[in-house]
Amino acid sequence: MINFDNTYLNLPERFYAEVTPEKVSKPFLLEFNREFASEELGLNLDTLNKRELADLFTGQVLPDSASSIALAYAGHQFGHFVPQLGDGRALLMGEIVTPKGRRYDIQLKGSGQTPFSRDGDGKSSLGPVIREYIVSEAMHFLGVPTTRALAAAATGDSIFRDQPLPGGIFTRVASSHIRIGTFEYFAARDDLESLKLLVNYSIDRHYPDIKDQKNIYLSFLQKIAHTHASLVAHWMSFGFIHGVMNTDNMSISGETIDYGPCAFMDNFASNRVFSSIDRNGRYAYNNQIPIAKWNLYRLANCLIPFIHNDQKQAISIIEDSINSYSHIYEEKWMETMGKKLGLFSSEAEDQALINNWLQYLEDEDLDFTLSFRKLSESSNGLKETSRFKDFSSKWHKRLENQPQDLRESRDLMNSVNPVFIPRNHQVERAIQSAFEGDLSIFKDMNHLLKNPYVDQPKFEAYKVAPKPDERIEATFCGT
Ligand code: AMP
Ligand code: MG
Repeated sequence: MINFDNTYLNLPERFYAEVTPEKVSKPFLLEFNREFASEELGLNLDTLNKRELADLFTGQVLPDSASSIALAYAGHQFGHFVPQLGDGRALLMGEIVTPKGRRYDIQLKGSGQTPFSRDGDGKSSLGPVIREYIVSEAMHFLGVPTTRALAAAATGDSIFRDQPLPGGIFTRVASSHIRIGTFEYFAARDDLESLKLLVNYSIDRHYPDIKDQKNIYLSFLQKIAHTHASLVAHWMSFGFIHGVMNTDNMSISGETIDYGPCAFMDNFASNRVFSSIDRNGRYAYNNQIPIAKWNLYRLANCLIPFIHNDQKQAISIIEDSINSYSHIYEEKWMETMGKKLGLFSSEAEDQALINNWLQYLEDEDLDFTLSFRKLSESSNGLKETSRFKDFSSKWHKRLENQPQDLRESRDLMNSVNPVFIPRNHQVERAIQSAFEGDLSIFKDMNHLLKNPYVDQPKFEAYKVAPKPDERIEATFCGT
C-alpha cells in the first residue's frame, strides 16, 4: 500500500511516543489529493476504493511499515514557555521517499489521544480539517513553501467543543515535523546529547549542504534565518496572517505549518488580527517579521552549548551573528513586495514607496489582493486621492528608471499578484455547507485555487471581496 522508510524511529525513544489511532464509527473520505499522491509522492493508491482510502486516512488500517508515533516538542506559546507540548492530536504514520528522492512525513491530524494530549481529546472537528486542506493547498499553488494536504476524512463521530461538531481527520504531508519547539524540548531538559542528535538529524534531512562548514551550528541558524525570512515575506505579500506563530508552529524546514486560525486579509489593515485567541495582537499582520526574529532567538538559545564551550563567548558569537543577518528579514520583505509593484531589484527608497501604497490601501479600506492586481491595469479604477497621486508619480518614475520595459513590469506583477486567494468568507461557506453534506464549495475552491494567477470568469464569485456584512473578522483555532 505505502512503503514507509522511517528514520525518526532511529532517534532515541525520548523523541516520541508510540500511539494507536482510535477507532472511528464511520470513516468517510471527503477529499483525496490524487494528483499530488501519484505525481509528487509516487504513491500508487489507485487500487484502493473509497472505503479503503477512508480507512487508511483515518488510521483504521495502518500499513505494516507505518511508524505510528507522536513527536515530542515544547514551545513558546504567546511568549510563554511550555516545556512539554508534543503531538497531542496527531500521529506520524511514517516517512516516504518519493521517486525524485524527496523525503516526506505523512501525518494524521485528529486521530485521537496520545501521551501528549494533556486534557485534550486528541480530535479535530471538520471545520479545521477543511480549512487546512483548502488553505495549505492554495498556499502551495501561490508558490509559498507549505505542508500539503493528502486527504480529508470525516469520522462519523461527534466531538464536543462548546457544541457537538462533526469529527474529521486531516492527512498532512510535510518535509518534516521538526519545529523550533523540538529543540526547546531538549534544551529545557539540559539533554545535550539529544539536542546534538536533533541538530545533526535536521542538517542531514534539510540542509546537507552545510555539513562541511566550519561552524555548522551557526550555519544552521543562518539557514533557518534565511528560510523564515523568505517564508514570512511570502506570507506578507499575500496578506496572509498565520495567527499562531508560536515556536512549536515554526518548522525548521521553512514550510508554513499548523493552519489554525489563519486567514488572508480582504481589506488591508496593517495591524489585522483574525485569531480569536490573540487578544493582544502578538501575531498581527505587521508583527510577523519581528516575531519571526524573536523565534529565531529562541532557537539560537538552544544552540549556545554547541557554539562555544564558554557560555559568554557563545552568546556573544550568536549575538554578532544574528545581528549581522537579522536585516535579511526586511530585505526579503522589500524584495517580495517590490516585485508586486513591478520592481526587478530592491533599492533603499523602495521601502517608502511600498509603505506609501500600503498606507493608501489602508486609508481607503481597499482589498489587498485585488488592488495589487488592478494596479497593473492601465485604467485601474483606483481612487485618485492625493496619497495615490503622490505614490503613482514616484512609482512611475521608479518603473521608468528600470532597464526593463513597462510590459515586463506588468508581467512580473501579474505573475506574483494573484486573482484568487482562499477568502475567509468562502472558506467559512465551504465549511458550513460541508456540515450540511454539500462538498461542492470545498471542491470548487480546491479546483480553482490551483491556478490563482489566472482569471477564471466561471469562478467570479470567489474572486470578489466580501461585502462588508459578509466579512469574517475572527477565526477560531477550533482545536
Ligand atoms: P496548536 O495551537 O494547534 O499548535 O496546538 C498546541 C498544542 O496543543 C499541541 O501540543 C497540540 O498537540 C495540542 N492540542 C491541540 N488540540 C488538541 C486536542 N484536541 N487534543 C489534544 N491536544 C491538542
Ligand atoms: Mg501546533
